[in-house]
Amino acid sequence: MTTKYLFFTGGVVSSVGKGVTAAAMGLLLKERGFKVAVQKLDPYINVDPGTMSPYQHGEVYVLDDGAETDLDLGHYERFIDNRLSRVSNFTTGQVYAETIANERRGDYLGRTIQVIPHITNEIKRRIRLVEKETGAEIVLLEVGGTVGDIESQPFLESLRQLRNEVGRENCLFVHVTWLPTIGATGEIKTKPTQHSVAALRSIGISPNIIIARADQHVEKSLCEKIALFCDVDRDSVIPMTTASVLYEVPLLLEDLGVGELVLTKLGLTAKSKPNMQPWRKLVEDVRKPKPTVKLALVGKYVELQDAYMSVREALKHAAIANEVEVEIGWVHSVDLEKDKGWDVIKNADAILVPGGFGSRGIEGKILAARYARENKVPYLGLCLGMQVMSIDFARGLLNLEDANSSEFDRSTENPVIDLMLDQRSVTDMGGTMRLGLYPCVLQEGTKAAAMYGVAQVDERHRHRFEFNNAYRAEFEKHGMVFSGLSPDGNLVEIVELKDHPYMVASQFHPEFLSRPMKPHPLFMGLLKAAKVKAGK
Ligand code: GLN
Repeated sequence: MTTKYLFFTGGVVSSVGKGVTAAAMGLLLKERGFKVAVQKLDPYINVDPGTMSPYQHGEVYVLDDGAETDLDLGHYERFIDNRLSRVSNFTTGQVYAETIANERRGDYLGRTIQVIPHITNEIKRRIRLVEKETGAEIVLLEVGGTVGDIESQPFLESLRQLRNEVGRENCLFVHVTWLPTIGATGEIKTKPTQHSVAALRSIGISPNIIIARADQHVEKSLCEKIALFCDVDRDSVIPMTTASVLYEVPLLLEDLGVGELVLTKLGLTAKSKPNMQPWRKLVEDVRKPKPTVKLALVGKYVELQDAYMSVREALKHAAIANEVEVEIGWVHSVDLEKDKGWDVIKNADAILVPGGFGSRGIEGKILAARYARENKVPYLGLCLGMQVMSIDFARGLLNLEDANSSEFDRSTENPVIDLMLDQRSVTDMGGTMRLGLYPCVLQEGTKAAAMYGVAQVDERHRHRFEFNNAYRAEFEKHGMVFSGLSPDGNLVEIVELKDHPYMVASQFHPEFLSRPMKPHPLFMGLLKAAKVKAGK
């Protein structure tokens, strides 16, 4: 079958759920028996988001092959449940880096290198890699940013060219736009959408489908107005009111007939009948009233919750399966250092310390781990959360008062967390951490092994520092259990406390592999223990 393309562009403002819409549509097509693949194009000049501040970019989502990618790839994996690879995300930075490297090698034989055709050719080459690598029948491609941005123009121009190369009949442009409401009158406005479609058309692209996002219910008459002004078929303006439950989005689209609409427009017929029942059940379960457990999430980027997107989703997944509601109390670790925010910690049925970099707020996180240890509050540490748990343990139980990670104190006498050997010669910060999937052998009889229920797992990593083996024996003597190790036994992957209801932490990021219908065992363990603590 000729590969079909679904191109997603954004109109009016960013953050209206373009990624979630693309992911949900991918699910509807997968459910109809098609092999789908997804790709996100990011217009910024950074080579990847790996070196960007979470405040700028939100979470960095890590794939099996170690690619550090946009958080939308998390949505794709959670909805479609396909394992993605490096080709699924690229940036303007990568496109330019490659083109300039080619130029330096002399590949262009003296020609002038220009946006058209050299940059657009490189963009198209990277887009075509997806079908080559995955054999996908339908590729869903999301362009980051909003139509009208200077930065995304080469991407849109490339899509226009690609449409002519693969044939119009094989492409659909889906424009996801925002309908604002005027507060004083409660009136929903379509004008910004008209302008953004006009901007898209000025570069030669007419949308085939418009997803009209709004916070309010969008009347049919309004959709007809958009259809008229934007020159789109009447049945192709899809009203999408903000869903209270994220995982309801595919159901809303399905019920509006979007799955069939897309197939008809691409000249395809479904190979199988979509079974959305598991998703309906999931959403029903989310809506059922349930007892609440309180979780304190101690981070340093808490002002921007997108920085913890996968952690939050993983908590939701485990909560559904544990039949509880998780109420997250966002605690800024710097506050804990100033004696603030402790009420949230003291009221919590569970404490979670997620990943992070740099020394700001570290002492606050160590204090949170200490509180969990001393007060037997269920605790889950993710990457940095495992490192601070180890530091607290060394300071509190081994009497190593200056114990630290050499990331935060280069001159500590007791670097219980230290730079990995193969990291010592690294000078480039981009893409050089221990990244991606690595095996972890679970030690029998531990809490981690009991939760996983298997002997070995593969988990996704993103770190430079690790547990210092020189301290292993001492830690063990005082009740720390190394419940997950690399197969050669050299790297500590999971630690837990013997004498504690659930204090477990991993050097990897379990949140990246949690799925709505396959909650992650370590998160399951946390909420199970939290439920007991809360007496629910
Ligand atoms: N900064 C720590 C390291 O590099 C932890 C990284 C993380 O939490 N992802 O090892």
